[in-house]
Amino acid sequence: MTTTAGLPATFDGDVLVPGSPGYDAARTVWNGAVDRRPAYVVRCAGSDDVRTAVRVARELGLPLGVRGGGHSAAGWAVPDGGLMIDLTPLRGVRVDPGARTAHVGGGALLGSLDAAAQEHGLATTAGIVSHTGIGGLALGGGVGWLARQVGLTCDNALGYEVVTAEGELVRATPDEHPDLFWALRGGGGNFGVVTRFDLALHDTGTQALTAEVDLDPARGLDALRAWLTRAHDAPRRATLYAEVRAGGPLTLALVWVGPPDEAAPLVAELDGLAGLGGRDGLSGLDAAPARRVTPLSYLDLQRRSDVGAAHGYRRYAKSHYVRELPDPALEAFLAHTEADVGAASLVAYGGAIANVDPAATSFAHRDVRFEYGVGARWEDPADDERHSATCRRLAATIEPWSVGVYVNALGAEGTAGVRRAYGATTYARLGRVKAAWDPENVFRLNQNIPPLVR
Ligand code: FAD
Repeated sequence: MTTTAGLPATFDGDVLVPGSPGYDAARTVWNGAVDRRPAYVVRCAGSDDVRTAVRVARELGLPLGVRGGGHSAAGWAVPDGGLMIDLTPLRGVRVDPGARTAHVGGGALLGSLDAAAQEHGLATTAGIVSHTGIGGLALGGGVGWLARQVGLTCDNALGYEVVTAEGELVRATPDEHPDLFWALRGGGGNFGVVTRFDLALHDTGTQALTAEVDLDPARGLDALRAWLTRAHDAPRRATLYAEVRAGGPLTLALVWVGPPDEAAPLVAELDGLAGLGGRDGLSGLDAAPARRVTPLSYLDLQRRSDVGAAHGYRRYAKSHYVRELPDPALEAFLAHTEADVGAASLVAYGGAIANVDPAATSFAHRDVRFEYGVGARWEDPADDERHSATCRRLAATIEPWSVGVYVNALGAEGTAGVRRAYGATTYARLGRVKAAWDPENVFRLNQNIPPLVR
């Protein structure tokens, strides 16, 4: 099929304009608060459509948005009045079990990658919600339950097929355009439209286990401190974390990817800590049992947060990377339970993430020990300001210990936010690569790196 919908070009995929069947679904993204109306949605059937779409958008001077899985909370994918390159049709995943590689379409969702790789007992790091897009996730870094074991998603990138701002199709690998290859491993959507990711897979098995204990937050400080101290040198199959939510318990937890019985010593340590926090104050807080240990398949692990992270709600979140968490920081975290809205977590980094030289990829935060995040979801637009303000207030209590932020957890916070996500050295280097590949900043609806001309 060829279609133009008034554009000076033809496409193999559909072009949707306001009023076309499917237009509203195509402009709807994960965050229900995003309500923007592109002039054109080009549902790209292949890289030729992407090349044409980039050229046409430039010719017409239209703002260009790129939609992978549509999960950017700021809604970067949807350009008001502009042209949206919709990669949804490029969702195929092909696994080569012999070579232990996956070839992943630029619009694929994580669940497709996980499912195709697990057919062969293989996996690579993906995020923790299966309906997230590989596109935005991998380009910003890609953190998930396997990251301490095999590195970030971007650490497992072998090569990219990219449509550049000139509308050319190029490959970026360690040997072909190594500057672009470096920038795509953390620099987000600034450098082109990735139509295919080639990723390394690992024999991490098909089994997993989760363990959680709920403690009284008023008495949880010692247990929280002990658990987070344990996080750094825990076995790499394990990711330790802590969670709190408004009016709820302190939950100390771990996710284990591998044979569940091998997690037994760590689960025993967690149980030991439960004694430190006491549970008797919990009865009125939560109907859930105070201890939950669940062996499950890796695929079920990857889907277990899908419902809680469902589409359509209005959302706001703030995040910090932290290295040190002295008691005042932990007390501030525990005090989140006194808020009227929101849930927060501290998730361990380290392991294979920290093994990579900070200069080797544009994801530079290799010595981070935890990612802190706080978020809220609601339905009534009248609550937008109140709930966002609560998240900002809670995040501000952790900010004194912040050493940066994960670019994929950053909202629309302007240049200062993007600088915080990369640090001065990486930001400047990204700016130079941007000047080489996108000097006119065609790809600017993202966590934008302006071209740096020396
Ligand atoms: P989109 O909104 O489609 O894309 C975001 C931006 O990425 C686009 O504007 C574009 O600039 C760029 N982009 C996307 N695809 C391409 C492409 N193929 N080529 C070029 N540019 C592209 N992050 C983690 O690391 N780990 C997690 O476990 C994790 N869990 C999450 C769970 C949920 C429910 C949500 C909402 C987010 C989560 N994130 C996680 C953050 C996630 O990585 C970012 O939101 C990311 O932007 C999502 O990518 P997407 O393709 O779905 O988003």
